[in-house]
Amino acid sequence: METTIFEKIIAGEVPAEIVYEDDRILAFLDITPVNVGHTLIVPKKKFVNIFDADPEVIAHMARTAHHIACALKEVTSCDGVNILMNNGAAAGQEVLHAHMHVIPRLIDDHAYQPVHNIPYDAHEGKEVAEKLKSKLA
Ligand code: 5GP
Repeated sequence: METTIFEKIIAGEVPAEIVYEDDRILAFLDITPVNVGHTLIVPKKKFVNIFDADPEVIAHMARTAHHIACALKEVTSCDGVNILMNNGAAAGQEVLHAHMHVIPRLIDDHAYQPVHNIPYDAHEGKEVAEKLKSKLA
């Protein structure tokens, strides 16, 4: 599989502003931040996204996102934080090495367009909920 920019950052071949590191993950500033302090959390052992992920590593990334969000709130005085993960091209994933974004948000920063929501048809919500429940049981 193709080597991504994140593997080069993990290997120290490409510089980055690293803010946290342990045996499983690396966190560094996004090079094109939505707002100052925008941080990426990346697993050292590559997986592409949530679909081939080790759930234990995802849990560790989420714990670290909590830690980083609290630090960002103090350091940047942001009003809020988005924690998100783009999984697959349809969801906006550009770098094919899994990562979580921790994005400081400011009141009225207008960083994103409003989300496009669609209402359910008559029985659609119930049907999909039933299918999901049987998969998750
Ligand atoms: P995605 O759309 O895949 O969820 O987000 C990839 C993120 O990686 C983007 O926000 C982009 O700015 C960031 N990025 C891409 N190349 C580099 C790089 O070389 N260094 C750093 N620090 N971030 C990068």
